[in-house]
Amino acid sequence: MAAANPPSSLQCLLIMSDALHSTSNPCVNCGACCAAFRVTFYWAETDSAEGGLTPTGLTNSLGPMTRCMKGTDTYSPRCIALEGEVGAATRCLIYPQRPSPCHAVEAGDEFCRKARRHNGLPEDVFYDLTGATRTRNTLRPE
Ligand code: SF4
Repeated sequence: MAAANPPSSLQCLLIMSDALHSTSNPCVNCGACCAAFRVTFYWAETDSAEGGLTPTGLTNSLGPMTRCMKGTDTYSPRCIALEGEVGAATRCLIYPQRPSPCHAVEAGDEFCRKARRHNGLPEDVFYDLTGATRTRNTLRPE
C-alpha cells in the first residue's frame, strides 16, 4: 500500500482555517469576551517590540509597561478589532496577532460566563451556526 502524501502548506492552512471557523466552535457567533473586559497586556506583545505581534495602532497606553486594546478601556468595553454583532456573528480582525489575554478565555469558563451575562446573553446556553443548541457541558470533549 502506497504511503499517503503529507498535506501541502496550503492544505494545512485550509484545515486550520476550517477549524477556526468551524460551525461547531461556539465562539464564532459570540464575541462576548471581546465586549466585556479591559484587555490589558505587557507592552512588548505589540509590534513596537521585536517579536511582538499585536498592532500598536490598535492599542492604548496604560503606562510605561502596559497597553490595552482600544475600545476596551471604556465603561462599555468593545474591542476595536471585533467585527460583527455580539451574540450573533463575530470575528476578530487580528486573530493571529491577538494579545495573550485573548488566548486565555475558554468557552464556558468563568470569564466567558461573566462576559455573556454582561452582554445580556444566556450564561449556559450557546448557539452555533448550524442552529443547534449546546449547553456548557457539551462544549468540551468528555
Ligand atoms: S483582539 Fe480579537 S480576540 Fe482580543 S478582545 Fe479584540 S477582538 Fe477579541
